[in-house]
Amino acid sequence: MKTLHCREAGFDCDTIIQANTEYQVLELVSKHALEVHEVAITPELAEQLRTMIREEKEII
Ligand SMILES: [Zn+2]
Repeated sequence: MKTLHCREAGFDCDTIIQANTEYQVLELVSKHALEVHEVAITPELAEQLRTMIREEKEII
């Protein structure tokens, strides 16, 4: 699973985003950031977040 830890994106948050593809992770994190952190993910930020996505086993 492609995995992104919200904390590594700079938020004080324990949410872990997982999906099958990087694209889906970015979609989910955009939604999460907007709803929970009221932060809009810009294309530049999305590019940074993409570098933080790792391959981890499914934990959900
Ligand atoms: Zn978060």
